[in-house]
Amino acid sequence: MTRTLAALPGAARRLCLSRRNGEICTREDGHRGLHHRTGGRLLWSDLQADPPECPGAGSPAEPAATLDDGFPDGRAVCPVCWAFVGLTDDGTLEPHDSWRGDESRQESDRRREWFNAFGW
Ligand SMILES: [Zn+2]
Ligand SMILES: [Zn+2]
Repeated sequence: MTRTLAALPGAARRLCLSRRNGEICTREDGHRGLHHRTGGRLLWSDLQADPPECPGAGSPAEPAATLDDGFPDGRAVCPVCWAFVGLTDDGTLEPHDSWRGDESRQESDRRREWFNAFGW
């Protein structure tokens, strides 16, 4: 997983974000033809794309550091897909879909702020 990928402001950019072996499609949302990441060599079809469930589920994790307003509210950062994910009572990541862009502009902004503060 690369920094570039984690830093993609998905929802704001309206990218496709189909995934395949750690690559992520940077073509526009709803595009025709094969998926492709800008600068990458891999091309893939919907059939070859990874399933939506993230393989990081069940990994041990700890709640991420929080911004002043509490974001991300006790969730942990998934080391596989970089989503903010809730924790089970066992301290492992809850089952979740791989991150494919944020649900709202607000979440996207908070996410970017968090990665600027703590991401690397
Ligand atoms: Zn695509
Ligand atoms: Zn994940």
